[in-house]
Amino acid sequence: LLQMAMPLNYLGMMYREVKQALTNIERLWGLLDEQQEVRDKAEARALQTTQPRLAFEDVRFSYDTRREILHGIRFEVPPGHTVAVVGHSGSGKSTLARLLYRFYDVDSGAITIDGQDLRALTQDSVRGAIGIVPQDTVLFNDSIRYNIRYGRPSASDEEVEDAARAAHIHRFIESLPDGYDSEVGERGLKLSGGEKQRVAIARALLKNPAILIFDEATSALDSASEKAIQAELDRIAIGRTTLVIAHRLSTVMDADEILVMDAGNIVERGNHAALIARNGHYAAMWRLQQQASEAAPT
Ligand code: ATP
Repeated sequence: LLQMAMPLNYLGMMYREVKQALTNIERLWGLLDEQQEVRDKAEARALQTTQPRLAFEDVRFSYDTRREILHGIRFEVPPGHTVAVVGHSGSGKSTLARLLYRFYDVDSGAITIDGQDLRALTQDSVRGAIGIVPQDTVLFNDSIRYNIRYGRPSASDEEVEDAARAAHIHRFIESLPDGYDSEVGERGLKLSGGEKQRVAIARALLKNPAILIFDEATSALDSASEKAIQAELDRIAIGRTTLVIAHRLSTVMDADEILVMDAGNIVERGNHAALIARNGHYAAMWRLQQQASEAAPT
């Protein structure tokens, strides 16, 4: 019986590992139940860019043709700039990021990177140019070193540690009994939300992408780690073309442009000062968040 049970148990483990690896990317985006798949065209070319300019050109999109989610979105992120998207839950913020990563193709209009339509490009080249710091970082059941190296599998140990240093997680890792060999994930060490985000930042740093998508966590970190993570993200965004999906307005104050979304439309845009002066949706959201943070126990 024991002889039978061992390989079966082993197969079970393998199955879970493989299944988890396959679902990680989908889980990053909450896409587990999605069926559709975007395929490369036969004549697809590799993206050519060093300092990318992103453009959404009158983008319309629906997950289900009976219900349009984005109703003609236009904006640009100039090379090295940061554009932040804010708006109520369900307004379409994360959908913009999913389209940029080309999980779906637009229904009409176009998304371009340096004038190259995403639909004419290979997915590998597009995804290779984009780093994502997701809301909820998925950790593999493996060492923390492996988890960071996932950003660029060819990275040396030294490069992994440099990225960890820049993401301010190196000291924490060194303080663990098994250091970089510590097992994390569901069967290993459980990392806090802030530690997981730092792993995601280290991964993104290793990947060194020209384009960065930061999907801010909805779950609040304590305000000290929130400020620290913010500072690290601001640093890694320097020189990269960055799209931030923001849930806290404190994150977006320094963005070059803020887009306020409502029900699939951009209803206001400008920098923080301009939007406050305008005294519209953004200013109202800002006042609400200020009141909420003043009312919160410290
Ligand atoms: P949140 O702040 O809550 O993350 P969001 O502004 O990012 O919200 P999206 O996730 O972009 O909103 O969703 C926009 C709309 O699209 C929502 O009404 C949502 O119900 C719908 N939607 C999102 N994903 C899917 C999907 N896979 N299939 C069908 N509809 C979807």
